[in-house]
Amino acid sequence: MEDVDLYELLGVSKTASKIEIKKAYHKAALSSHPDKVPAEEREEAEIKFKAVSQAYEILYDDETREQYDRSGMSAFEKGGMGGGTDGVDLDDLLAQMFGMGMGGMPGMGRGPGGMPGGRPGRKMRGKDVVHQYEVSLEDLYKGKTVKLSSTRNKLCSACNGIGGKDKSRPKKCANCDGKGWNQSLRQVGPGLVTQEQVPCSNCRMTGHVFREKDRCRKCKGACVTEEKKVLEVYIPRGSKEGDKIVLEGEADEQPGYETGDIVFILQEKEHEVLTRVGPDLSATIKIGLLESLTGFSRVVVKHLDGRGIQLTHPVGEFLRNGQVLKITGEGMPHKKGEGKGDLYLVVEIVFPEKGWTPDVEAIKAALPDYKPESITGEPVDEHDYIREANLEEIGGEDESWEDEDDDDEEGPQCAQQ
Ligand SMILES: [Zn+2]
Ligand SMILES: [Zn+2]
Repeated sequence: MEDVDLYELLGVSKTASKIEIKKAYHKAALSSHPDKVPAEEREEAEIKFKAVSQAYEILYDDETREQYDRSGMSAFEKGGMGGGTDGVDLDDLLAQMFGMGMGGMPGMGRGPGGMPGGRPGRKMRGKDVVHQYEVSLEDLYKGKTVKLSSTRNKLCSACNGIGGKDKSRPKKCANCDGKGWNQSLRQVGPGLVTQEQVPCSNCRMTGHVFREKDRCRKCKGACVTEEKKVLEVYIPRGSKEGDKIVLEGEADEQPGYETGDIVFILQEKEHEVLTRVGPDLSATIKIGLLESLTGFSRVVVKHLDGRGIQLTHPVGEFLRNGQVLKITGEGMPHKKGEGKGDLYLVVEIVFPEKGWTPDVEAIKAALPDYKPESITGEPVDEHDYIREANLEEIGGEDESWEDEDDDDEEGPQCAQQ
């Protein structure tokens, strides 16, 4: 296929800076804006305007620009397209780049809006199907293959998706006059109406229908039949929230359309003990007061693959509440390569329950004496104090602040913080 030169399209050099690209885009967009040209040039301007906007989107983003520089438009193409029209359908291309972003958002699929006429030999893309898929942290750690059953429309094998019997000729769909879609007006605001193109359901956007007697027996003219299939979804170890797993061409088939993808977006289920932070894991470990003083050797946490993480803490190295222990290489596996993140363990000292009365003399005998620094100041009365105060309340309610800030909506909020 021919490649479109995005730099040429914007009129910049290959080494153009981001600022130059932005400027060039503004200039090109302005001169080709469909509202700024005479009616007869509008269609052409629209195409140009779209093209420069999309060239800008690719070149302004470092990542996609790098991809483009490396492999041209093919970086964004999937197999089996081609088409031989002049250049690439940038619209399609962006739909693919952003996956469901433009193309497959439920309800705003690549409808007839951008379609007919213009681009012979190119198929439009069917909608992608996007699923959120919850995965446990254990499965993200170990990797997993999930089998899911899927039901989708597949082009009818008897008529190859044509809908009619061999040699029968379809007639033009009367409902849409053979266009495959109809104009309809939609109110988008008070007194504001926009025209949109609605797919014709009578002919399923094909523009033609078969007479009753000519319809394919298998699909009854629907062009598609239902297919049940087991899909294997492979979740690589080290995957994370938001990762996409794309099953190419597994969405509904539709005559005249390139089949969209099924996309799984991973959602990480919360784990009871371990929390993931990027490549690392953290957990709170409970250590008894006695252990914190005398040391211990035991399993402190069960890892995601079922291993017990054993720690030996020597006598004489006391553990404090909130102290953080780090085990290198026991975090999440990296998606690429063999490396792993680290495991952070936050110590929570478990003190004896309320009501436990220590053998004070024995403890005094066992523990080293503590001599506080002398603090001067005349002792007055003994103070009462709240035993479990909340530091988050500090600096809180003060009415003089509220009065002053009465008019300012953000005032009270600021005062609290
Ligand atoms: Zn059929
Ligand atoms: Zn129709």
